[in-house]
Amino acid sequence: MTDIFPRTKYLEGNKLPAAIKATGNDIKDVKAIIMGHLHLDHAGGLENFVDTNVPIYVHEEEFKHACWAVATGADLGVYLAHYMLLEKLKWSTFTESQLDLFQGITIHHAPGHTPGLCIMQINLPKDGTFIWTTDQFHIVENYELGHPHGGLARDHNAWYRSLNMIRRLQRLYNAKLIFGHDMAVAMKYINEKKFYE
Ligand SMILES: [Zn+2]
Repeated sequence: MTDIFPRTKYLEGNKLPAAIKATGNDIKDVKAIIMGHLHLDHAGGLENFVDTNVPIYVHEEEFKHACWAVATGADLGVYLAHYMLLEKLKWSTFTESQLDLFQGITIHHAPGHTPGLCIMQINLPKDGTFIWTTDQFHIVENYELGHPHGGLARDHNAWYRSLNMIRRLQRLYNAKLIFGHDMAVAMKYINEKKFYE
């Protein structure tokens, strides 16, 4: 389990306001949120944006699926109602398979782990392209071996198509990949440089 959930402590400094503060910014300056998917372990911190005008961007497929899963009890436990806050958050959905949401930030629909999962590509002028895969790949081996994560990949055919799409993207941009639950890969980039630009 520690391979999949490497964070075994949740301290004050791990909470979103403190984590943003540590970058020299303030949570009040956040202009938009991008949700890769809506599983409970990727939705922490949304409560900070209750009754604000900060848009929460998520693929329409993911948003509909999460609402259905919560309301019917399907996919029990991986989506929860308490952070969906249908009337208190400014949910903002899109349907594109590829969306240039902001300059240098492109979102790609990559279904498989969930129907509406999206990966995020960020092109940095000096340090090049990074891709956050969220849980399309929990750990690097899912990507490198082309090995889906068993029952956690709900749709295997879609997962393989998304794998191929991401491999093409990686090659095209010589991108560095950051996986949903791979602490070793994240620590490598965190330790390599103080910040990326
Ligand atoms: Zn997930």
